[in-house]
Amino acid sequence: MNTTFSCVGCGKCCKDHHVPLTLSEARMLAADGGQVIVLVEAFLGNGLGLPEHQREHAERRSAPVCSGESAAHVAITFAAYNVGPCRNLDEDNLCRIYERRPLVCRIYPMEINPHIPLNIAVKECPPESWETGPELIVGGSLVDQALVDLIQRSRQADRDEIPVKDAICALLGIRTTALKGDGFTAYLPDMAEFVGIVDDLAGQTLPEWSSEWAFHVSGDDIAGQLHAAGAQVTTDTPANYAFISLRAA
Ligand code: SF4
Ligand code: SF4
Repeated sequence: MNTTFSCVGCGKCCKDHHVPLTLSEARMLAADGGQVIVLVEAFLGNGLGLPEHQREHAERRSAPVCSGESAAHVAITFAAYNVGPCRNLDEDNLCRIYERRPLVCRIYPMEINPHIPLNIAVKECPPESWETGPELIVGGSLVDQALVDLIQRSRQADRDEIPVKDAICALLGIRTTALKGDGFTAYLPDMAEFVGIVDDLAGQTLPEWSSEWAFHVSGDDIAGQLHAAGAQVTTDTPANYAFISLRAA
């Protein structure tokens, strides 16, 4: 079935959504006085935490690391910390930085993850936005080549920035991850420190950093599976940190 779409400017997608950012977008947000949230998830080299059909995509956007005696792959997302309205949304639901808004804001309501098809039932856009406007998807393909290019740029940045994001996390002391599917670990780093590290690393050969990570998990059963695979599990809770469980209550 084909899909039509036209943004009606309701502003809902700009509220209560942590917006994934490229490194330069995260640097810009921090310099503008905003807060970056760092979200981390990982899976083991033996596949624990990973649906097999997602392996290629998941490996391409994650850093090869270790945890205890186990190989692991850690995916790090820098996102705009949006609790309530985005700091750039004005009273008329218009974006104050429209001309330089992040890639993900330009891509919404499309997905950047190729394993997540567009599902309009879970999108913030109201019904009328899907009833009029130009064709978005015809025969399963996106119509707008500019939008296709934006999605590719977003995915490429996601892959290109893996090592530097891992190095930034190491320098911020971020070394606890969740198991993919079980949750995320979330950090709210000090933004002055974040900007200082980003600027120090810009254009430099990355320094050596520890590739050792530990897992924070939702329960003893998951911890047991990680222990059995030789991975390291921790219950420490660093400053400015939360574990976000995805496990059904
Ligand atoms: S940067 Fe602009 S488009 Fe993106 S979430 Fe904020 S207000 Fe919305
Ligand atoms: S939720 Fe959809 S319709 Fe509303 S502003 Fe965002 S993209 Fe536009």
